[in-house]
Amino acid sequence: MKILVPVKRVIDYNVKPRVKADGTGVDLANVKMSINPFDEIAVEEAIRIKEAGKATEIVAVSIGPAKAQETLRTALAMGADRAILVQTDDEVEPLAVAKILKAIAEAEEPGLILLGKQAIDDDSNQTGQMLAALMGRPQGTFANTVDVDGDSVTVKREVDGGLETVKLSLPAIVTTDLRLNEPRYASLPNIMKAKSKPLDTKAPADYGVDTAPRLKTHKVTEPPVRQAGIKVADVDELVAKIKALGIA
Ligand code: AMP
Repeated sequence: MKILVPVKRVIDYNVKPRVKADGTGVDLANVKMSINPFDEIAVEEAIRIKEAGKATEIVAVSIGPAKAQETLRTALAMGADRAILVQTDDEVEPLAVAKILKAIAEAEEPGLILLGKQAIDDDSNQTGQMLAALMGRPQGTFANTVDVDGDSVTVKREVDGGLETVKLSLPAIVTTDLRLNEPRYASLPNIMKAKSKPLDTKAPADYGVDTAPRLKTHKVTEPPVRQAGIKVADVDELVAKIKALGIA
């Protein structure tokens, strides 16, 4: 079985995003970019499934600028076998990403497509669901545990108040949640080896997908500055203050 893992190049999660002065978006100039954390978890899970002898090949895919090659090399250094870069300098919205992934999946025929539950830059949480709908495949979102067994996969999903278990027949689409696993660090020899693993470069037009935006961003603003807190002398004063707020 082949596993397809879409990985997005996003602003590093440790970086505090700065809004552009004209309010049109987030300033990405000279900002550290990394693999989307949920996608790193997806790569790790794919490697574990392969290590368990339940998959034969892991293909990482990224849709983005030439620099997204670095993101793909990260996935290759962790243990993916080969990569596909669908190169574009345009911002590609989830629907167009899902259409490109559908075309790639039709060519590659993976048994499992493992995506992140959301990209931490747009916070859309849409691509996996749209892909499942476009392909007419079963989906297990917000995966906390993934267990491939023969021609099905059992996914424990993180839902409000606990876990929900679903069993999907393969081929299927799974999106990862934070507690699925702890991704490994790539070792130096593996980083070196990743440089010679195959990386194909394509364009959205190769898949017949129009990436023109369908959404218009009106304005991006900084979140309101948090008000300073106050120190209370003791528990009695704290209780009195909470009562005064009317929440106790
Ligand atoms: P989103 O729906 O934008 O929150 O993204 C959900 C998941 O879709 C991400 O965690 C990735 O696995 C995948 N994805 C979204 N955009 C891209 C992209 N440009 N390239 C590769 N994968 C992507």
